[in-house]
Amino acid sequence: MDKIDVVIVGAGLAGLSCAYKLADKGLQVIVVERGDFPGSKNVTGGRLYLMPIKSLIGDMLDGAPFERKVVREQWSLFGRENSINVDFTANKFRDHDHSYTILRARFDRWLSERLIAKGVFVIPKYRVDDLLWENGSVAGIKAGNEEIYAHVVVASDGALSFMAEKAGLRPKMMPKQYAVGMKEIIELPEEKINDRFNVESDEGCAHLYLGDVTKGVFGGGFIYTNKNTVSIGIVAGIQAMMAKDPPLDAYTLLDSFKERYEIKRLLNGGNTVEYSAHVIQEGGYNGLSKLCGDGIIVTGDAAGFALNVGVTVRGMEFAIASGIMAAETIIDAKEKDDFSVRTLSSYENRLKKSFVLQDIESSKEMPDFLENDDFFTFYPERFPGFLERALWFGEGPKGKMGKTLWNEIKSSGMLSFKRLKALYRIKNI
Ligand SMILES: Cc1cc2nc3c(=O)[nH]c(=O)nc-3n(C[C@H](O)[C@H](O)[C@H](O)COP(=O)(O)OP(=O)(O)OC[C@H]3O[C@@H](n4cnc5c(N)ncnc54)[C@H](O)[C@@H]3O)c2cc1C
Repeated sequence: MDKIDVVIVGAGLAGLSCAYKLADKGLQVIVVERGDFPGSKNVTGGRLYLMPIKSLIGDMLDGAPFERKVVREQWSLFGRENSINVDFTANKFRDHDHSYTILRARFDRWLSERLIAKGVFVIPKYRVDDLLWENGSVAGIKAGNEEIYAHVVVASDGALSFMAEKAGLRPKMMPKQYAVGMKEIIELPEEKINDRFNVESDEGCAHLYLGDVTKGVFGGGFIYTNKNTVSIGIVAGIQAMMAKDPPLDAYTLLDSFKERYEIKRLLNGGNTVEYSAHVIQEGGYNGLSKLCGDGIIVTGDAAGFALNVGVTVRGMEFAIASGIMAAETIIDAKEKDDFSVRTLSSYENRLKKSFVLQDIESSKEMPDFLENDDFFTFYPERFPGFLERALWFGEGPKGKMGKTLWNEIKSSGMLSFKRLKALYRIKNI
């Protein structure tokens, strides 16, 4: 059976980056994608951190359709009817290519067109159903009656990766290991975005929200500004939503988030132009799959390379870096003409020496730390509440502000041994 060098399942950032590097070295690559075009099925918040991948990407992202450079960071803690907001900016963020907002439908499509120009076959509307096997090694893919044989299959098929599961590299996942992200893209004139988010044209804002946004369950909300749209969404733990009585519905969370006073005025007059939903891994380090087998390598979300802390999700730079490192590994394997796990396992060593596995490992206590309802119920209720009472001047005398505040903090239970002990674990994350 004739084999090509590599077939990549999934034209997301992991798959496309892998293909780009392989094509640069002249390997024969086919990328197959179940969506109508690359980017059509891909969801992100969307901010891409560039610094971690700068030394890896070469010219891959030269001329890429970035939306805005993020120079303003905001965080809000939402109580039921009040909120606290922190606003941060720094010249350093203006002077460096630190992070950019992107829209995947545009960004992934652009990258796939670069690949096609390099001679790579990128085949959309092609859903892979199964793997092909030869003497215990993965030997290709199967979609309906069609088969493509390859020396290596790269599983870049995202968070639910059936390819990794079929290869026996990861067990069936459970609801507790996933969150769901809901997102809308809302069109607004560029000047309105600049005014409302206090940025210049081409400068962007990343605003993250914790608290009443998710009605007490693990997760948070986000707004990212693009050129003439804003991306707004929420992320919420699936198991935590199911455990609520009655269970919470992710759609209604996003709707009520958009109805908040603080949000409504930012979106006023805008039109929703895109609506999407996607799952996100919550497992962190302990949710990683095995990274390769004979004839197969797993990259990006498919391998579990995502860090979800509720308000932020980091995954795109992991997807790009792992795709490139998978390609480097396959290039070595081609030179040795050995596509067995013995050679492909150097992929894991590459990842271990890089920010990918180092960052994911150093955050391994994060899921446990965040499994503390106080972050989503107690603190969002108390902190804005303290401020509301401190800033409110009623008809009677105000009294001693410091003393009143101290009494409130004490009686709230915030200083209890249990809560301080839970917070002390912050040193491990
Ligand atoms: C709401 C939300 C907000 C996020 N925010 C951020 C953020 O701000 N910053 C950040 O860095 N990360 C963020 N992430 C995470 C980030 O989007 C992912 O980590 C990243 O998209 C992973 O890229 P990938 O290429 O591994 O997977 P994907 O982008 O999911 O690509 C997988 C591809 O495989 C295709 N596919 C799947 N199965 C098959 C099959 N059987 N046959 C053919 N094709 C198949 C899919 O259609 C898809 O195109 C967010 C995620 C969500 C959901």
